[in-house]
Amino acid sequence: EFNDQKFVYDFTEGNKDLKDLLGGKGANLAEMTNLGLPVPPGFTITTEACKVYLESGAEPAALRDEVSAHLDALERTMGKKLGQADDPLLVSVRSGAKFSMPGMMDTVLNIGLSDASVEGLATQADNARFAWDSYRRLIQMFGKTVLDVDGELFEDALDEAKAAKGAASDTDLDAADLKRLVERFKGIVKTATGRDFPQDAREQMDLAIEAVFNSWNTDRAKLYRRQERIPHDLGTAVNVCSMVFGNLGPDSGTGVAFTRDPASGHQGVYGDYLTNAQGEDVVAGIRNTVPLAELESIDKKSYDQLMQIMETLETHYKDLCDIEFTIERGQLWMLQTRVGKRTAGAAFRIATQLVDQGLIDEAEALQRVNGAQLAQLMFPKFDDNAKVEQVGRGIAASPGAAVGKAVFDSYTAVKWSRSGEKVILIRRETNPDDLDGMIAAEGILTSRGGKTSHAAVVARGMGKTCVCGAEELEVDTKRRRMTTAAGVVVEEGDVVSIDGSTGKVYLGEVPVVPSPVVEYFEGRTHAGADDADELVQAVHRIMAYADRVRRLRVRANADNAEDAARARRFGAQGVGLCRTEHMFLGERRQYVERLILADTDEEREASLKALLPLQKGDFVELFEAMDGLPVTVRLLDPPLHEFLPDITELSVRVALAEARKEPHENELRLLQAVHRLHEQNPMLGLRGVRLGLVIPGLFTMQVRAIAEAAAERIDAKGDPRAEIMIPLVGTVQELELVREEAEAVIAEVVARTGVDLKLALGTMIELPRAAVTAGQIAEAAEFFSFGTNDLTQTVWGFSRDDVEASFFTAYLEKGIFGVSPFETIDKDGVGALVRQAVESGRATRPDIKLGVCGEHGGDPESVHFFHEVGLDYVSCSPFRIPVARLEAGRAAA
Ligand code: ADP
Ligand code: MG
Ligand code: MG
Repeated sequence: EFNDQKFVYDFTEGNKDLKDLLGGKGANLAEMTNLGLPVPPGFTITTEACKVYLESGAEPAALRDEVSAHLDALERTMGKKLGQADDPLLVSVRSGAKFSMPGMMDTVLNIGLSDASVEGLATQADNARFAWDSYRRLIQMFGKTVLDVDGELFEDALDEAKAAKGAASDTDLDAADLKRLVERFKGIVKTATGRDFPQDAREQMDLAIEAVFNSWNTDRAKLYRRQERIPHDLGTAVNVCSMVFGNLGPDSGTGVAFTRDPASGHQGVYGDYLTNAQGEDVVAGIRNTVPLAELESIDKKSYDQLMQIMETLETHYKDLCDIEFTIERGQLWMLQTRVGKRTAGAAFRIATQLVDQGLIDEAEALQRVNGAQLAQLMFPKFDDNAKVEQVGRGIAASPGAAVGKAVFDSYTAVKWSRSGEKVILIRRETNPDDLDGMIAAEGILTSRGGKTSHAAVVARGMGKTCVCGAEELEVDTKRRRMTTAAGVVVEEGDVVSIDGSTGKVYLGEVPVVPSPVVEYFEGRTHAGADDADELVQAVHRIMAYADRVRRLRVRANADNAEDAARARRFGAQGVGLCRTEHMFLGERRQYVERLILADTDEEREASLKALLPLQKGDFVELFEAMDGLPVTVRLLDPPLHEFLPDITELSVRVALAEARKEPHENELRLLQAVHRLHEQNPMLGLRGVRLGLVIPGLFTMQVRAIAEAAAERIDAKGDPRAEIMIPLVGTVQELELVREEAEAVIAEVVARTGVDLKLALGTMIELPRAAVTAGQIAEAAEFFSFGTNDLTQTVWGFSRDDVEASFFTAYLEKGIFGVSPFETIDKDGVGALVRQAVESGRATRPDIKLGVCGEHGGDPESVHFFHEVGLDYVSCSPFRIPVARLEAGRAAA
């Protein structure tokens, strides 16, 4: 029950479902408390309090009293007062947002220690070394996090103290050394801030709470949220937790653990433990930790208890959990738990393991994995067994494994790749001028910029491997070389390997192995065989769950029989988009040229006649590959000039011929045609249905090829299910004209062949006008296929080919959109039109078939949207089909 007047919750009051209000850490501390696990008592200040503070610049008026009341209660429970001189209660002040933001906001331990209470702590614990160690930690953490003192000043002083003593580790410093160090630390605070380290315990606590609030808006935190698409207005909670001490001696310590291996998913004992240590020591790598399994011989009782708690947590959360714990003089304390991060492969394995254990059902298993993880498992990867020389690490910006020769500018990238070399383009950062180079390269590596940098955005758009922001690599484009942190110099032409899934950069050629998951989809390995890899088994089972529950069918965008066959192996239930323009390239271009140049009907018909059998041949193969499944063939879409020679090249040819007085009549006519067909904005020009209506015979030739191919397949006892799709329709009149012509042609083929053909005729919905008038268009269309690429272009007025490289990074950085609308469908704008067209299309023709064939058909978030608006199918490139199947299943489960 949410109470907007209540800003503080005791650990006994919350639960794991209150992450919005209590943050992840606070909600889970409360959950563990209520499970009866040993959690040091404490309370949580809500994210609401943080929001008020951030908005108004001051803590809510009621907060101070509420904190006092909870602190009083805590003091009563613990039987001591915060900072009390003879026996101080100490607390930690810990940040904790809804989503974990690793390393973003710091925690202060040992609050309540002062010159007076440190003595009391020493007496109570009968351990002076421990008390002074805790005090120096407080000043160090508080100085750095709350007072903004440069942390290195403390670290240097600690190092000096160790050096003076000849001590290898901080545990070798004794009470006297640490007492001196405390004086040093206090001096550092005084010099840096101009004031003394605060001696009042409550003041320490209040300052720390405020610092946690403020840390929500540091530059680092903001950048992280932008990159991870975490909303900026969530705020953080603050946890005040009574201290327990792992630094009390050899019978104490602190550790981290996973309830199962986050890399493989296997059950077992995974974690690290450090004796006589506090807080972050384990992860900071200050001293060598021991594997968790060794705790059994160090402290059997605590170990057994921990194993039991881990089992309780797994059963309770029904998932892999990670935990932080501390042992104080043989007493185990739980300090944190959460559902743990895992690798993509482990996510699949764990989901099926949990099903087998009876902890979750199949529908839940589908929610435990996602399409992005599946896509990651489908990329080829570097051979795990290869010997590698890692020279750097950046942000994993766009997955894949790429190997090539280092080049430091786009010109060289293009030149070398033209001569058959594989190259990796290495830049400090990229800009629109690098586009050619990025296209030519196998992969892109930059030393600056994050997940929304130009390199990252453009590479993801192209599906190209990219590692960005590898900061320890010094890129010198002028001298065409890169220097690693270890001083290794990589010259132009040296081979490097980059892993876009991990961000790792290697020197030399690392061998690449195909993904076992793709091998499985291709049918080269089979799940179910005894030796089949566990991962493949898990993927196989999850895909079966998804296929069982999904409502959306999944088709492929495939232009030829080969792609169609692969798509079918990957689970495609038809072709949603066959682009016929690819069939006009190569040697067939000459016929298109002649078609355009034709002066007479005879000439025109001659070239169409030459094209007809070629087209028909393509379709026969395609229908055969997709026998029994629908194949949507789109009639010619792009502007004709795309089939003509480049204007500059042609002008040069004409000029040369003229100068040499050679015959050049054909070139000249071609040049005139190129000029005539030249358009300022070809995307909005003579293309799609417009072309079909003004170039006589073009669409009819294509329809004839489709009809004859289908008739031939039926003759051969096949089962072709061709659907004819008209692109770029804006009004029903266009469609009616094409339909009339098409029906006449089909009737003619039926009459001539005697084969009963059923060819569906429909249209793309890819213009705003078509979406708005979909009710009318449905009169003439048996199906709609939403062309969301063009629809996004025309709704936003963006030219996709231009804007992604020019201003999208700026837009992403400014937060105008969280992701490119070409990557994930813009639900509010483009999506609203789709929704409207679905409704009005169905109103006119209840059995109308509805699908989508833009890139969005393979994007996880978009697939969920298409499920929700009630489409019948999505169509995407062959490699995205498993992803679409999985996401369609997740949407329906
Ligand atoms: P993070 O979010 O970075 O993990 P935490 O708030 O969990 O930060 O705390 C940092 C470290 O301090 C962790 O190792 C945690 O276990 C330890 N710690 C936090 N609060 C206490 C406490 N009350 N007693 C002992 N150790 C604590
Ligand atoms: Mg923690
Ligand atoms: Mg289109």
